[in-house]
Amino acid sequence: MQLNKPIELSDIERQRWMARLIARSKRLASLAEVPVVAVILDSRGRCIGRGSNWRERSKNPLGHAELMALRQAAWLKGDWRFNDCTLITNLEPCPMCAGALTQARMGHVIFGAYDYKRGGLGGSIDIANHSSAHHRMKVSGGVMEDEAKTELQNWFKQRRQFSRENEATQKQID
Ligand SMILES: [Zn+2]
Repeated sequence: MQLNKPIELSDIERQRWMARLIARSKRLASLAEVPVVAVILDSRGRCIGRGSNWRERSKNPLGHAELMALRQAAWLKGDWRFNDCTLITNLEPCPMCAGALTQARMGHVIFGAYDYKRGGLGGSIDIANHSSAHHRMKVSGGVMEDEAKTELQNWFKQRRQFSRENEATQKQID
């Protein structure tokens, strides 16, 4: 086994990870955060970092799941280079995270739902294949895409319902 390469995950293994991430994102759905979660696997497939979207609670624009996972994994690894690692997340990384993953030289990025409005890895713009990218990341998007997308869409629906109800309550009080 080559230890300097990201682990080769079969389709079933990718789906197993994605199912886990989607289940995890469901548990976060009651929070005010967009339920995005991420894990980083080392070359043997061991999870060395995980993160969930923490932007609202931390009041931090950098509180994205991918950046949190990177920070934890870099600390464990004692290195900023991730050529031998794989990041898996339920939603296509935004341009900020896609840029950070390129900077970290991530070996492989696997994601569930494409984000055609704000995605940074092909959905809207493609940072990984941009001429400015000095590192070529392998990107596999659309793993369990329907399930990942439905989960996020449900969350947005719930949030809209919640704000409408709040507005109605507010009007009654006024
Ligand atoms: Zn992001």
